Amino acid sequence: MPDSLARRWMDGFAADFALEKERLGALDRAAGDGDFAVNLAQALKRAAVGLQALPEPATDAQTWMAAANGFLHTGGTSGPLLGMWLRELAKAWASHDAPLAALAAGVAAGTTAVQRLGGAQAGDRTMVDAMLPAVQALEQALRDGAALAQGLERAARAATEGAQATTRMAAALGRASYVGEAAAGIEDPGAAAIALFFRAGARACAA
Ligand code: ADP
Ligand code: MG
Repeated sequence: MPDSLARRWMDGFAADFALEKERLGALDRAAGDGDFAVNLAQALKRAAVGLQALPEPATDAQTWMAAANGFLHTGGTSGPLLGMWLRELAKAWASHDAPLAALAAGVAAGTTAVQRLGGAQAGDRTMVDAMLPAVQALEQALRDGAALAQGLERAARAATEGAQATTRMAAALGRASYVGEAAAGIEDPGAAAIALFFRAGARACAA
């Protein structure tokens, strides 16, 4: 039985993160309190333990929920927020048959949850600035009747552009808000991680 999409996606994300850990850490050191890469590494490690413990074969919904639990039990602002986001992916996968519909609904509900909990609006220089463009891209792909791989490609591109746009934003929330203008020109690490996440998804789907 081949691994579920969610499993290949999470494994790919963890591998990509290992390659980008230094860069993400440097971004949070330059415009935050420097703990982002450590927090994300810890969350991914906990998620990996949860994934290993799943029955085989595990469904996508079970896989996303195990990953979510790893994140929810990690410190920092990003751990719990990403945990809530992944939890909505799990819930959507359990209640939709078509994967692109599940993904679009889950990412939308997850982003709403992150905004409700963290209070971030578009333009506040947070992970939300990569999530919202991905939501729009996935919903448009769904309306266009696109294939999952194509929807993921579009979401990856939109999230990457959204993350790049944070270089031009001043932080309104989180620890980066304390450094004010020092954040100018620096990509928000949370948004960069979301872009990485969707690029891993596009790759997992194309594989
Ligand atoms: P902390 O800000 O507590 O040090 P982390 O270093 O774990 O948290 O995560 C930092 C990332 O979390 C930021 O780059 C940003 O994307 C995201 N973030 C911080 N505060 C919020 C918030 N209120 N809403 C959404 N995302 C946030
Ligand atoms: Mg931090």
